Amino acid sequence: MNSRKRFSIVMVIVLILSLTAGTVTSFAETNQQKLNRINQEISAAKNQLSAAQAEVSSLTGQINALDSQISATSAQIAQTQAQISQTRSNIQVKVQELDAKSAEIVQQNDNLNERLSAMYKNGEAGYLEVLLGSTSFSELLTNIDMITRIYEQDEEFMQQLQVQYDELADMKRELEALEAQLQAQEAQLQSQKAALQSNRSQVAGLRAQAQQNVAAQNALIDDLNSSAASITALIRAEEAAAKKAAQEKAAREAAAAQQKADNSAAKASNTAKAASSSTSKSYSGGVTSYTAPASSSTIISGNGTFCLPAPQYTRLSSPFGYRIHPISHVRKLHTGIDFGAPANSPAVAGADGVVIYAGWYNGYGNTVVISHGNGISTLYAHNNSLCVTKGQSVKRGQQIAYIGSTGNSTGPHCHFEVRINGTPVNPAPYL
Ligand SMILES: [Zn+2]
Repeated sequence: MNSRKRFSIVMVIVLILSLTAGTVTSFAETNQQKLNRINQEISAAKNQLSAAQAEVSSLTGQINALDSQISATSAQIAQTQAQISQTRSNIQVKVQELDAKSAEIVQQNDNLNERLSAMYKNGEAGYLEVLLGSTSFSELLTNIDMITRIYEQDEEFMQQLQVQYDELADMKRELEALEAQLQAQEAQLQSQKAALQSNRSQVAGLRAQAQQNVAAQNALIDDLNSSAASITALIRAEEAAAKKAAQEKAAREAAAAQQKADNSAAKASNTAKAASSSTSKSYSGGVTSYTAPASSSTIISGNGTFCLPAPQYTRLSSPFGYRIHPISHVRKLHTGIDFGAPANSPAVAGADGVVIYAGWYNGYGNTVVISHGNGISTLYAHNNSLCVTKGQSVKRGQQIAYIGSTGNSTGPHCHFEVRINGTPVNPAPYL
């Protein structure tokens, strides 16, 4: 059911209640209902506001976490870049050492070749000259040994140079591998940082939305508060006007009564007859003479004020309060409570009262409204058929309808409402 229909039902009930009770504050009641509804909307908006605020702070927490991850990743990138440049300068040093070492090898090779070619040129003679120049056998041996050692030293030195050169070349290759590894690491860190940054901008977008939501909820609350304030002022003005009108009416009635008394005094000879007839005359009967079955304090006792509307069916299929409507799928105030019950089981009056509405009412289907006096009424909706008519007095527990699924309903149940001055309240504490 849409809110306009619901509002028109409320209007009708208020009108009926005000006629029944004969109150002079019918406009004030309408505004009071409006005020109640606005206050409900304010509290709903406040709930949504705190939800939105919680979301903003949770998203801010996420952004802070992402920021610290981003700065940690940036620090890692800087560290990796420093390692890369250190590795590059190490490679540079190794390259220089390799160049020097290879120059040494080339030089030593040249020296050896020179010595070898000098010996080759001199041939056996050069050799023999040294050997034959020996003055003794032991000197000969010494000279042979010396010549051999020169060759061996040259060769050993060459080998040492080659080993050093190979070591340097290995080191250079290791450094180059290290540099490649560091570069891969840097690339990975860069893509990690890019992912974190895109994540951050996404979360920042969500936070901006949540902040807009907070602002919208604040604006809504401000708007509702100003509506509530203006309605409160209107209610006060109407109450004052109604009070003044009542005082004026009382004054007029007092004057009229005085006039009547004066007239009666003038016709004092007929007193006996007049007195007997006037005592029972004020009771006119019907709805307007209905008075509450008990004082308001006993009616709102908070427990067992009303008997269960669908006797023996105590299963609450839907409670009072905001819910997603089963048909419209819109979040709406469920203005009563639902008791699941088989079709055509009896619905009974919650307490003594007078039927102020009995008939079809849009989404409510076949509906009965009973006034219990003191601005308190009960409503029974979605009935298959009704057993009472408008103006009829009913007793607590008396059958008023056969339960059904008429109007906006998904299955047989009794939709039961308690209304105070026409405004629906949670019926549960009254049962
Ligand atoms: Zn319902």
